[in-house]
Amino acid sequence: MVLCIANGRRLRGGASLHGAYKYGLPFERSKIDTNHLIISVPSYSTKMSHPMFSPDFNFGVNTPPESPTKGHAPKRSFGSHVHKKSDSWGSLIDILEHGIPIPTSLNSGAFGAIEVPATRSPEAHVSQYMNALPAPPSAKERRLSRNSFGAALPIPRSKRQSRLSSVTFANVQDALSSVETDGAKTGVGSPRNILVSQVQDVYAEKVRAAKNMAFVFDIDGVLVHGDRLIPEGRKVLEMLNGNNQLGIKIPHIFLTNGSGKPEAARTEQLSRILHNPVSTDQFIQSHTPMRALAEYYKTVLVVGGEGYRCREVAEEYGFKDIVVPNDIVAWDPSIAPYRVFTEEERASSRPRDFTKVEIEAIMVFSDSRDYATDMQIIMDLLRSRKGRLGTVAADPVSERIPIYFSQGDILCPTEHPIPRMSQGAFRIGLEAMYKALMGVDLERVVYGKPELATYKYADEVMASWMENLHGEERVPENIYMVGDNPASDIVGGNMYGWNTCLVRTGVFQGGENDEENPANFGVFANVWEAVTTACKKQLGDDFKFTWDNRVNPVLHGRASAVE
Ligand SMILES: [Mg+2]
Repeated sequence: MVLCIANGRRLRGGASLHGAYKYGLPFERSKIDTNHLIISVPSYSTKMSHPMFSPDFNFGVNTPPESPTKGHAPKRSFGSHVHKKSDSWGSLIDILEHGIPIPTSLNSGAFGAIEVPATRSPEAHVSQYMNALPAPPSAKERRLSRNSFGAALPIPRSKRQSRLSSVTFANVQDALSSVETDGAKTGVGSPRNILVSQVQDVYAEKVRAAKNMAFVFDIDGVLVHGDRLIPEGRKVLEMLNGNNQLGIKIPHIFLTNGSGKPEAARTEQLSRILHNPVSTDQFIQSHTPMRALAEYYKTVLVVGGEGYRCREVAEEYGFKDIVVPNDIVAWDPSIAPYRVFTEEERASSRPRDFTKVEIEAIMVFSDSRDYATDMQIIMDLLRSRKGRLGTVAADPVSERIPIYFSQGDILCPTEHPIPRMSQGAFRIGLEAMYKALMGVDLERVVYGKPELATYKYADEVMASWMENLHGEERVPENIYMVGDNPASDIVGGNMYGWNTCLVRTGVFQGGENDEENPANFGVFANVWEAVTTACKKQLGDDFKFTWDNRVNPVLHGRASAVE
């Protein structure tokens, strides 16, 4: 039996050799060249299959010293044909399964060939701090965490101002008209409206119920996949926009953790894909609630997003003085020593003397495109005197400027087969750095699902959208959240007391229901099934999901009376 366990390119292979030595395996060193160490293990029968260490296999360098813990190290299955031949062989199998502990003291002289540097200490140093970070809050704790409107940091409390403009309204109405199934315009006194009003008079009870329910839709994985329509998404919106038995608009809003573009650009794109009107007044993306922060801060650092799109978003939100990392790098390139700054970036940035500028808050609007630069600048600001770059505060913790994150997703699905790191991962990295440097936890506010701030904001949006639709500024009693992600859509909805519907068209691929965050109203094949089931519960099993222009309200009234 020959084992090739070391590769000169990778020192990790050498670590395994020390481990094998430590475990007392009987072996003979048969050959060493500059790249390979080959060991013979005579006690192993040649009739047995040959488990083989791959040179690329990670031999458990992440395993804690002394006590290899099951599940801690990367595993590789070697098949059931590997049996324990002897104690030593058993030890080898243990090593294969659990990884090799790093020797606490290396005695490379025993081999005289391969040096194995023990490089654990920096990692151990970091993990010491990581362990001291607060554990991820449970569902209940999260609702009471600092990431809420009750946080110590300044949080907007002012009433949300309607952003409804006559232009937007006209567009929405045009779009609404275009989806009416009878092709008639919805102007006051149109034949369809007269008929609708008569039908609604007959079914007054159902109308009351329809106005007392509402839907909150996650977008990606529920209504669309990126730029692709999920057909049931279009059907559902047509039904909620009036293609139903009562010809009534059933209120619905959109709640997404997406970010990086102004709301108007997103809703235009969505309206096109969904063939239904989506107004900015019924739309919340991760940074939408941060609009209200413009009342509190004049000069802010806005981080993340493509190019300068997030600066545009912040301008649109009413922030008066917006700094982005590129402005700072253009002013002093040495602040980000590893950044390659192009002439084009320099030309489009707005440098000034930032030692004279007091940046009052940090707003991470979207995913960082350059972790190194953004983290460096944020850390500099968090440690500075009143947000002035180039200074270090005497008491950096008490003088620290606030930091806000638009959402907390750690991973996000992309076209890459393995999900990519998202804003939550960036935040955790910052928190670890802050803790390592300052010795205290970084206080911050996180928006987006499933944070409480976003749900409170959703209530305001819902109430004002109700006013737009039905002239009643209130939050309906029966709210249904429809989402594809148990860890954000469902847990947040559950905590906020909404009915939650999990659909199978996106992230969730599980069994009957999600085990950790089960949807309380149920799991559905798609958004149409979820919405129609909810409507039947609120409006009756006989509720019809199309508008019939030939309906005779008088006959319907009689039929209804007979029933
Ligand atoms: Mg989703």
